[in-house]
Amino acid sequence: MNSSELLRLADTYGCPLYFYDTDIIIRQYQEITKAFSKVKNVKINYAAKALSNINILKVFNSLQSGLDTVSIQEVKIGLRAGFSPKDIIYTPNGVSLDEIEEVAAMGVQINIDNLSILELFGQKHPEIPICIRINPHVMAGGNSKISVGHIDSKFGISIHQVPHIKRVVENTGMHINGVHMHTGSDILDIDTFLRATEILFDVAKQFDNIDFIDFGSGFKVPYKQDDIATDIQELGKKLTKRFNKFCENYGKDVTLMFEPGKFLVSQSGFFLAKVNVIKQTTSTVFAGIDSGLNHFIRPMFYNSYHHIENISNPKGRERFYSIVGYICETDTFGSNRRISEIREEDILCFHNAGAYCYSMSSNYNSRYRPAEVMLYNGKDYLIRKRETLEDILRNQEEVSL
Ligand SMILES: *Cc1c(COP(=O)(O)O)cnc(C)c1O
Repeated sequence: MNSSELLRLADTYGCPLYFYDTDIIIRQYQEITKAFSKVKNVKINYAAKALSNINILKVFNSLQSGLDTVSIQEVKIGLRAGFSPKDIIYTPNGVSLDEIEEVAAMGVQINIDNLSILELFGQKHPEIPICIRINPHVMAGGNSKISVGHIDSKFGISIHQVPHIKRVVENTGMHINGVHMHTGSDILDIDTFLRATEILFDVAKQFDNIDFIDFGSGFKVPYKQDDIATDIQELGKKLTKRFNKFCENYGKDVTLMFEPGKFLVSQSGFFLAKVNVIKQTTSTVFAGIDSGLNHFIRPMFYNSYHHIENISNPKGRERFYSIVGYICETDTFGSNRRISEIREEDILCFHNAGAYCYSMSSNYNSRYRPAEVMLYNGKDYLIRKRETLEDILRNQEEVSL
């Protein structure tokens, strides 16, 4: 995306603004399908929680993607976006049996991640095939907030409990039609990931008639220049070999599934914010923008790096800045960043703003959430209006005192 085009969007729709280039989403989707083109049956289920605007889901539906959901609300948005229930997988954690039954009644594939619910569900609905989420206890990488496959993790059923799963299956007569793992974000080392997949193959072959193996996600994308990213083509080559071998031994062409969020949408997103104030202190120069952790919490929550560019002055002399928000709390987007000279009212562009950015936004400080715009087939569309005071007050019951 070039600066003048982004400036035009900021001018047309105002700031702060989320902007998604769907060509980048399509490119990423094609990259992952290409990596596994030598596997007979492949299904990519987009993880809706990364960016859940219904129009983005429609783009994925048009690509023949499936949908990975973690709440009944995501399932409902997916259905409204046009996904057929059989193309949706539901992978809740710590969710009630009631909600799981409600989703199952819609015809959506259920993925259960604990023995207690598995046993209850199996007794009540032995006829509904279930996928099980396994925790392989492999540390895929990243920090503990985003890595979910380790021993202390709340996610999945431990591989050591597979005998118990088999007992539940036997006792209830239920059918396990898939096995799943999701080791968390940021796969840095393909061999570690492959070790986890071997564990999953081992589990899979202990069940008679599975239809799919879901390897979850955790593909890392670059956040800065020369940043390491998961080499998806290499992973594709290595895993394809193992997967096809598994199918041969198992005697059935099961479906290989992945459920990436970040990989598919992170780089498509750009966040545009206007500089309200430049403030010199004894130790640094702050640039304060018309946004904060209410709109974009990843830098503060995960300590994640997002590249920041001054698109109003791209050729300006470079200086050092700390970019901060307007929330009455410390909300630093980037410290000591070298950026072309920033003046008040300049527009800054934050990169990798597609995944876990808008979807984690809030109304903290009673601020409006930003608008969202999508570029599709060369045309920009407003896909979410900026909020108003009415949105903030909706559902508040005013009591006369
Ligand atoms: C969040 C989540 C994903 C997506 O993870 P990314 O790191 O965004 O690719 C996939 N599967 C499950 C079960 C998830 O909870």
